[in-house]
Amino acid sequence: MDLYEYQGKELFRRAGIPVSDGRLAETAAEARTAAEELGGPVVVKAQVLTGGRGKAGGIKLAESPEEAEARAEEILGLDIRGHVVRKLWIEKASDIAKEYYLSVTFDRGAKQPLFMFTTQGGVDIEEVAASAPEALVKLHVDPFQGFQPWHARSLVYGAGVDDPDEQRQISAIAARLYGAFVDFDAMLCEINPLIVTPAGEVKALDSKFTVDDNALFRHPDVAEMRDPEAYPPEERAAREKGVTYVKLDGEVGILGNGAGLVMSTLDVIVLVGGRPANFCDLGGGGDAQGVVDALEIITGDPQVTAILFNIFGGITRCDEVARGILQALGQMAIPHPIVVRLDGTNAEEGRKLLEDAAPPNLHVEPTMLEAARRAVELAR
Ligand code: GDP
Ligand code: MN
Repeated sequence: MDLYEYQGKELFRRAGIPVSDGRLAETAAEARTAAEELGGPVVVKAQVLTGGRGKAGGIKLAESPEEAEARAEEILGLDIRGHVVRKLWIEKASDIAKEYYLSVTFDRGAKQPLFMFTTQGGVDIEEVAASAPEALVKLHVDPFQGFQPWHARSLVYGAGVDDPDEQRQISAIAARLYGAFVDFDAMLCEINPLIVTPAGEVKALDSKFTVDDNALFRHPDVAEMRDPEAYPPEERAAREKGVTYVKLDGEVGILGNGAGLVMSTLDVIVLVGGRPANFCDLGGGGDAQGVVDALEIITGDPQVTAILFNIFGGITRCDEVARGILQALGQMAIPHPIVVRLDGTNAEEGRKLLEDAAPPNLHVEPTMLEAARRAVELAR
């Protein structure tokens, strides 16, 4: 789960990482009030779950409450790479002398948290990694050992920070960032830029914070930060029904059971010249209600023109899935052709059920390849 900047900063604040004082605003009038309360120049920041807001015109300085209101007016409703701005974070403006970058993420290969730190912050870290890899310090932390003072020294000396006061502050921030990463079961904690003010104060000017969905049950307060409006309606519906759903860009809606089978189905669709519109994973389930729920979500996507069911019965029985398909067709009008490939446990019973009922838009195919070909043909 990705957090908004203001939410990530709230977790930073709790972890003892310095951040600027700010207020949330949903209207231009609220932005003005926030600026009045904060006093002095403020920065008006679009709250969207994507980066690069500055370049997209989503971050603007304002000298006065009037100006904050005007900037808020401009930023609200802005579309930043498909994310429409509905919330603003109004923050006391900072003077910036230097922009650094600090993050902790998972290195799945090394099975350890990975720190990255550079004094060339503010820009995309991928750019630094490409153009000046020697300026980027990478450092693993053994999770059993935890963050040690020598890690902090490796980071600051490695990146060439020579001011002792900065070294001290950055070391403390890195230790706390690691603490936040562990305590909140994060996947990513990124500060870009981590600034040094002209007065020498180091603080987090931005936050990117991703919490492991599977650990949210341990953090009810963080789970509550989820903003359902930030997700497309089908994704919201899928989450409510407990269906795994991923939106893609083509025309064939895919329903399978098990992540591996679904992934290979995507490949086969592309192999035969089609493009998947989305996919639903029924997982180990596949009872009738699960099929109905998944079909509702898939058909809610206006890009879908054909649907491919790829079921390999194991614990899930194909006759049960067939009943689910028929039940769904009885309950809802599905205008699209549906191609079904059933194999594994009780496949014959399943196919027979479908053939006997023979709904007009249903096509049963014996193999995955033939089913994919048929679905792509019918999607045109
Ligand atoms: P991003 O573009 O989505 O990464 O948003 P950031 O929060 O990182 O802001 C982008 C840039 O805006 C920063 O790198 C800063 O240069 C600038 N910026 C943000 N807040 C302030 C501020 O308080 N004062 C000044 N002077 N610049 C700011
Ligand atoms: Mn940033």
